[in-house]
Amino acid sequence: AAKAAGKNRVQVFSPALLDGDQTTALETELRTAASRGEFVVHYQPIVATRDGRCTAVEALVRWAHPTHGLLGPDAFLDAAERTGVINRIGEQVLRQACAAAASWEDGGRPVALHVNASPSQLAHPRFVTVVRECLTEHALAPKQLIIEITESTVLDSPSVQATLDVLAGLGVGLAVDDFGTGYSALTTLRTLPVDIVKIDKSFVAGAATEVADQAVLEAIAQMAARLGLETVAEGVEDLDQQRFVERAGITAVQGYLHQHPVPAAELTAWLARAHT
Ligand code: C2E
Ligand code: CA
Ligand code: CA
Ligand code: CA
Repeated sequence: AAKAAGKNRVQVFSPALLDGDQTTALETELRTAASRGEFVVHYQPIVATRDGRCTAVEALVRWAHPTHGLLGPDAFLDAAERTGVINRIGEQVLRQACAAAASWEDGGRPVALHVNASPSQLAHPRFVTVVRECLTEHALAPKQLIIEITESTVLDSPSVQATLDVLAGLGVGLAVDDFGTGYSALTTLRTLPVDIVKIDKSFVAGAATEVADQAVLEAIAQMAARLGLETVAEGVEDLDQQRFVERAGITAVQGYLHQHPVPAAELTAWLARAHT
């Protein structure tokens, strides 16, 4: 895993390219990249605390830039969002990821697929169409696809809310990402058809040492259990964090301790190896 992580690590890239008045040039570059298929998807396992099985993977986009190397989302997502190219990139991510994940299983159970969606993607009428096509084309059960949104995505947007209701009607799952960092966390759980709560890695970082973080983790785990929701602790990097998170009753973990985000072929190999 360490070797794979080195090869697949994204560049820390100065955002100079993405600055100020160069929006048009960047927009052109993003569109060209999309036509050339330069956006690739890496996959990071989500592992059940109960039995160590991989229950799901999260799709994370990278830009295989011809001169700058492999760029992480922080280098280009804001610009993609501003220019609307995110809708094209998002469609490519969804199609690539569904094609890859459809055949994955662990211990005889299918591995679900988590895909991130931004507000503008969810407000776009094409999003639901693409989801339907992907499910049909790859014979994916709707509940095997989970859309990840952040709390702020949903505020004050009736079209986003409508999309989420349609997806829930199809049986597609919904996860709230970075849970605990927005100011409306509890409202989100009351108003949306949420299935999974992903606890932000800032809380997980102090899981072994900080009393305040431990209290937050325990409280979220208890609340989620009472609401019948799954919980994922993000950013689990060491065994002490893993042990605390397990004891707190969180149902799954994701982080470098288990595996970094890797290309599809490496995820296939990881699933084939004994990883529990
Ligand atoms: P996120 O959804 O919160 O994804 C988790 C991020 O944490 C990923 O960063 C992942 O590589 C990183 N991570 C995983 N395990 C660990 C760990 O143990 N420790 C630490 N410190 N970090 C860990 P990444 O891949 O750079 O993605 C950044 C963000 O970009 C994502 O945050 C998500 O909000 C966004 N994003 C990624 N792919 C997509 C996409 O296809 N569409 C959209 N709309 N957004 C995406
Ligand atoms: Ca996410
Ligand atoms: Ca649901
Ligand atoms: Ca997150």
